[in-house]
Amino acid sequence: MDEKQAKQTIDQLTELVLYHSRRYYDQDAPEIEDYEYDKLLHQLMDLEESYPQFAHADSPTKRIVGQVKNTFEPVEHKVQMGSLQDVFTPEEVYAFHERIKEVVADPVYVVEPKIDGLSVSLEYRDGIFVRGSTRGDGFVGEDVTLNLKTIQSIPKKLLEPFPFLEVRGEVYMSEERFQKLTEEQEIREEKPFKNPRNAAAGSLRQKDPAIAAQRGLDIFVFNVQQIEGKILTSHKESLDFLQQQGFPVSPSYQAFSSIEAVMGEIQRIGENRENYSFGIDGAVVKVDSFAQRERLGSTAKYPKWAIAYKYPPEQKPTVLLDIQVKVGRTGALTPTAVFEPITLAGTTVSRAVLHNQAFIDEKQIAIGDTILVRKAGDIIPEVIGVVSHAQENPVYQIPDICPACGSPVFFEGGQAAKRCQNSDCPAQLLRNLIHFASRDAMDIDGLGPSIVENLVSAGLVKSPADLYDITLEEVSVLDRIAEKSGSNLLAAIEKSKQNDLSRLLFALGIRGIGQKAAKLLAARFMDIEHLFSASEGDISSIDGFGGIMARAVVEYFSLDATRGLIDRLQKAGVNTRSKDRPTSDRLAGLSFVLTGTLPHMTRSEAGARIERLGGKVSSSVSQKTSYVVAGEEAGSKLVKAQGLGIPILDEAALLALLEDDGSPIPEK
Ligand code: NAD
Repeated sequence: MDEKQAKQTIDQLTELVLYHSRRYYDQDAPEIEDYEYDKLLHQLMDLEESYPQFAHADSPTKRIVGQVKNTFEPVEHKVQMGSLQDVFTPEEVYAFHERIKEVVADPVYVVEPKIDGLSVSLEYRDGIFVRGSTRGDGFVGEDVTLNLKTIQSIPKKLLEPFPFLEVRGEVYMSEERFQKLTEEQEIREEKPFKNPRNAAAGSLRQKDPAIAAQRGLDIFVFNVQQIEGKILTSHKESLDFLQQQGFPVSPSYQAFSSIEAVMGEIQRIGENRENYSFGIDGAVVKVDSFAQRERLGSTAKYPKWAIAYKYPPEQKPTVLLDIQVKVGRTGALTPTAVFEPITLAGTTVSRAVLHNQAFIDEKQIAIGDTILVRKAGDIIPEVIGVVSHAQENPVYQIPDICPACGSPVFFEGGQAAKRCQNSDCPAQLLRNLIHFASRDAMDIDGLGPSIVENLVSAGLVKSPADLYDITLEEVSVLDRIAEKSGSNLLAAIEKSKQNDLSRLLFALGIRGIGQKAAKLLAARFMDIEHLFSASEGDISSIDGFGGIMARAVVEYFSLDATRGLIDRLQKAGVNTRSKDRPTSDRLAGLSFVLTGTLPHMTRSEAGARIERLGGKVSSSVSQKTSYVVAGEEAGSKLVKAQGLGIPILDEAALLALLEDDGSPIPEK
């Protein structure tokens, strides 16, 4: 690598590492595995060592990138909360030992599991817990005392009232709690945390301590930062002391005087990773004697007397037996790989999410292939790629049919996921019904999420149309429904039949069609029946409608299930027409095409006014077109109209036509 390349690579790597650090520390939303991040950081470190002249002064190799949010009070750390230098191979452990021996003749080391959580400081005055803070950038952290107080295992009062004690520990979320939280988040349609560490960090930085309390966080304490009233001389001694004071300390901490024994302990912890109920991402090796630590010193980022040995994520090959597709509550189809069970990071795994078609295509995955599966400290296994392809099967294609309801599915505009659009799809029923009844949609008073859940679990409602068939008898057997509120609910359902078409269109939950778009659709098409025959061009000619929205509407109205649902709603007496009915039929039978920019009104306004007088607005010019209304910069439609000899109106002529003053319609 020449100097120019080295500088360029250092610049790029610095930026990349900083980006991932911010995602991880400030947003609790990492995009890459820790192991990959550590490798990037090491690559940068190596290059900076060879080309120190290009290293940035504030390089992430020299400082901790964590930020302090102004949601919390800042806390200055009197004793720096450093990071740890990480190593990945036994050779690096031996090299660490050699460096230590240059300063200290007979080092004794303590080896502990490295808990995958976030670092905090806890301060005690006269034996009482008074303040707790995050690490932040190592020098200033955030005051999260109230949230830390919700962690049961943190002693609020110590056995002995030392004038002052500051300890450091790692707050974590157990894998069991994490799994439970992920399930709850999925039900609430919240974005789940990526791993237990991010979940712990996100929970500890909640503004509301009640939320932190529900998350069931825990802690291991692994260091005395400051103490008054007692003298401690070694790490092991201080951990014993902390344990006596009632702190949960590192789950194991043994002292070793040979580096081979240290390596053995690192291996033992690694092999036992699966037996811990929390995530560990390595083992920490620390010089035991405080006097020796003093002599060894620290850099601005790390102490020189400790290292963190990082275990690589485990990966194994296995045979892909099947790919199962599930449709989620939002209609997205998610493929899952089902493979021959393997043991990874201690647990048996046989399934991994394949995300979407793009992921499958990129890795060229086919059923029968031998695939490589990885499970890092995180608990979610992932398919890394294909080791050998099964010749007999083609690359897997996610079906075009919803596995839950059999309706055709579509790629949602611009997104990688295929989605089922059917409002009656059983997999999406709960979500669709809650939306259907909500205030901005059909506004059915009293039909909130819990009643909807009740109706669905009692088997009374399988489609929004079923709402209009429920009887008072049926509702009154539901939990928590008194007779009076039952009849109020039926009255509200009855009332919703009179809603304008725009509410119904929004309530159907067509992808990308919000309230405003539903109003525009209703104003343009007046009657839901017209939407069954509308083309993408007809719809995208509405101002504010893009091609993606238009396609979603056409796809939605092309489904058999939609036809069935609307028929049932109409039969039940639900209004499917716009209240803005034509005010006359003066333009009935005439078809208009609007093109170019009109001087005083938008094409949508002009279209709506034509329709109110019974005229039809279409997007393309044909023999059947009665008039083309052309504004400025009218293009091919105008040319075509001229070619076909169709009369052209400007805005003034259109306005004259629209004015219902009894004057005759101009000659065609
Ligand atoms: P670190 O996590 O590698 O090591 C230092 C931390 O280890 C300390 O802050 C301490 O809280 C903790 N620790 C846990 N158990 C301990 C024990 N027994 N003794 C001493 N310390 C213990 O370093 P870091 O600077 O905190 O952060 C780097 C970590 O964050 C790495 O694991 C890295 O992979 C990850 N990270 C990942 C991304 C990403 O995008 N995936 C981005 C940034 C950082």
